[in-house]
Amino acid sequence: MIKAFGYAAQDASTPLAPFSFERRDPKENDVQIEILYCGVCHSDLHTARAEWGGTNYPCVPGHEIVGRVTRVGSGVKKFKEGDLVGVGCMVDSCRTCRSCREGLEQYCEVGFTGTYNGPEQGTGANTYGGYSDTVTVDESFVLRVPDGLDLAATAPLLCAGITTYSPLRRWRVQPGQKVGVVGLGGLGHMAVKLACAMGAHVVLFTTSPNKREDALALGAHEVVVSKDKEAMAAHVNSLDFILDTVAAPHDLDALLVLLARDGAMVLVGAPAEPHPATTVFNLIMKRRQIAGSLIGGIAETQEMLDFCAKHGITAEIEMIPIQDINRAYERMLKSDVKYRFVIDMKSLKQDAA
Ligand SMILES: [Zn+2]
Ligand SMILES: [Zn+2]
Repeated sequence: MIKAFGYAAQDASTPLAPFSFERRDPKENDVQIEILYCGVCHSDLHTARAEWGGTNYPCVPGHEIVGRVTRVGSGVKKFKEGDLVGVGCMVDSCRTCRSCREGLEQYCEVGFTGTYNGPEQGTGANTYGGYSDTVTVDESFVLRVPDGLDLAATAPLLCAGITTYSPLRRWRVQPGQKVGVVGLGGLGHMAVKLACAMGAHVVLFTTSPNKREDALALGAHEVVVSKDKEAMAAHVNSLDFILDTVAAPHDLDALLVLLARDGAMVLVGAPAEPHPATTVFNLIMKRRQIAGSLIGGIAETQEMLDFCAKHGITAEIEMIPIQDINRAYERMLKSDVKYRFVIDMKSLKQDAA
């Protein structure tokens, strides 16, 4: 076994603290990775605090991992020592069900193995995430980080990036289309950048007037404060696609009516309480659609990273030492981050010393 060191929650109410544990030695198809950076996702906080139920403790969160390969198993073909790689939300899946065979491992019918909070396929063991110094992952679930990207700012692409890229692709956002992005947080700011790079005319919807300048700087063509009824009315029946990233219950009808005929609104924010029910009339009169979407498959995640490298896209980040993680969670709850915290894993050495 390999000695590993990271930060873990021991139960739902205790702050994250230093934690020593073990990783498996690389098996035939495994890659061992030295973790350089790990993004901080809202899911980390929800899981560490058992707000979604079903947390296995100790819990080492983190599924926006960028690192360097330090060792490979004898059967590994895609990677060699020294390669820069990423690991996102999944480290395994059943690989045989219809979804897995179609490269949609995130919808694995048995359930994919999360990068943290497992359980591992076969053994049922808990998995430990990226708030740590090293991780061992099957090469099939390891992504290649293309040259030229800032490594720390690339980490959030592994969850926030793919979560927004996948629906934009699935619903075939095209140059010239009018695309709405709802909410300007970790997910929303990536959605704005990606939709712009796909050639769309991007309208950012926000409840905060003070986010206008940022949204425009990120590339949005228009910003609408959603409380402004007149500004909303100006967009009725005009949007081809809406990506709703808001993870709090809100009025979906106010957004639905902005879609043109056959437009789709896709929800990627996951509120703990349901949204108020939508008015079916708003759907049937213009054959509008509402759908949901979860991260993306491994092949599509690689496609997203390559797309980001081609277009020079990374996340807007605030780098923190791991010792600040509990404070970062509190700030995240107040949306006081532009737009993603990333842990510099070098900071772990202070605790290990
Ligand atoms: Zn995430
Ligand atoms: Zn499967």
